[in-house]
Amino acid sequence: MKVLLASPRGFCAGVNMAIDSLELALKAFGPPLYVYHEIVHNKYVVTHFREKGVVFVDHLHEVPEGATLLFSAHGVSPEVRQAARDRKLMAIDATCPLVTKVHLEAIKYAKQGYTIFLIGHEGHDEVVGTMGEAPEAIVLVETPEDVATLEVADESKVAYLTQTTLSVDDATRIIRKLRERFPQIASPPKDDICYATQNRQEAVSLLCDEADLVLVLGSQNSSNSQRLAELARERGISAHLIDGASDIQPEWLEGVQTVLVTAGASAPEVVVEECLDLLRDHHGATVEVRTTREEHVAFPLPKELRAVVLE
Ligand code: SF4
Repeated sequence: MKVLLASPRGFCAGVNMAIDSLELALKAFGPPLYVYHEIVHNKYVVTHFREKGVVFVDHLHEVPEGATLLFSAHGVSPEVRQAARDRKLMAIDATCPLVTKVHLEAIKYAKQGYTIFLIGHEGHDEVVGTMGEAPEAIVLVETPEDVATLEVADESKVAYLTQTTLSVDDATRIIRKLRERFPQIASPPKDDICYATQNRQEAVSLLCDEADLVLVLGSQNSSNSQRLAELARERGISAHLIDGASDIQPEWLEGVQTVLVTAGASAPEVVVEECLDLLRDHHGATVEVRTTREEHVAFPLPKELRAVVLE
């Protein structure tokens, strides 16, 4: 068996920054430390931090007044920020700067009186946070079919934004429909779908035709990981999204000669390594790294933690 190991894969700059922030905050302030929602959508990472005394909450009333709270990489709405201030929490903002960019675009368009179509998945933490910036101005669009039913007061003042972790192909289909219906629609100068999402999808689309099976390391609630498995399936290649080596079913590998292994932006390299070990030890696999693009992106720590580093 041959394994093609996709590169880039796994942690992106936003996830690295969020995880480093949590590690540092734990060291500086000690447990219990509270995080609003999962720090990143990955079971392994969340379990690791839970064992170190991190408490993940979905509501701020679960956090004692005056405690330290970290906002996850997916970002939060202004309402949550205010609630944190009201409870006198020491808030550390580990929102990915590329999510913040979408928030700022939403604020800008809303101030100018635009109706904003946010292309994304209902209920995703990032979408909830972005919609909270201008709830009266933002309409969620999930599918190309949604476009026909959109109602707006002024069709000349519409704009679209996207969730950062969408399928590039799906988003393109929706944007095409939006442009057909609203030829004057405004959009940000640079894509909202982030570099990491695009690069990991690009690697799968360039490499999956060489494989009989695609294994994507990532959790079920990770949007960008789900999109990688979907992309392979759309090309007719069998694909599974797995948290780790123990999820691999032996029957998936029957008759398989080439496996493409990749990982979503929130999946740590340790789970990739475990998966490779299993394929080497039990299936005699040789591993070939295939690099489709180099990545050199890094984000600074949240300002609340920079002072801690200097101390
Ligand atoms: S996937 Fe993209 S937007 Fe999300 S944390 Fe990573 S770099 Fe930021």
